[in-house]
Amino acid sequence: MKKDSKKYYYSLQLSEIEKIKALDHKPSLLMHACCGICVSWPALYLSEFFDLTLFYNNDNIYPEEEYEKRYRELCRLISEYNQEKGTDIKVIKTPFNGEAYHQKLAPLKDEPENGARCHLCYALRMEPAMAYAAENRYDYFTTVMTVSRQKDSRVLNQIGVRLQEKYPQVRYFFSDFKKDGGLEKGDKLANEHNLYRQNYCGCLYSYEEMLKRAQKDYQKETEG
Ligand code: SF4
Repeated sequence: MKKDSKKYYYSLQLSEIEKIKALDHKPSLLMHACCGICVSWPALYLSEFFDLTLFYNNDNIYPEEEYEKRYRELCRLISEYNQEKGTDIKVIKTPFNGEAYHQKLAPLKDEPENGARCHLCYALRMEPAMAYAAENRYDYFTTVMTVSRQKDSRVLNQIGVRLQEKYPQVRYFFSDFKKDGGLEKGDKLANEHNLYRQNYCGCLYSYEEMLKRAQKDYQKETEG
């Protein structure tokens, strides 16, 4: 299998889970979490093997009300899991600072989605989460974002490799949560829990793209 391929990173996910199954305790894992929709399947899956904490640090989200809305939905989902499914998942939220974040993204504002702007955006959220995991002595760190259809799991795992080098005291958990029907399982759980589904990724630029798309659709409808 080719190293640095999506399949390769998924195989690392599976082999790490096999190692963890052999332990007599659940290691702690801090997972960067962007919203309830993305978290729905990976959180359930991981809570079987880890003492799981979700880290909500997403200054990319525009506007602030949307940041709060996604957070509330995430907390509602986790509270339902903890009550109904017997999990013990914790959630940590960081204070919002969207303005400073967008200043960092601004030089790349014209990049298409999935391009350099997004790659910077992944790293800008993953690094503070990894730093928190190191400071607070978590065993593992990961990000939920590999579950997204729109995000390149290779790029996310490559960022994980760099973070692992910088913070060697925490193990980066490689993942591709889309695999093995992860997307379908997430969709089903999101429907069961009636989760809010946002129609743009998060930043001001993706918000503006969403408005443009909506306007085009409206024009098509009214002309047709
Ligand atoms: S489209 Fe999404 S991943 Fe890309 S920069 Fe905006 S918020 Fe970040």
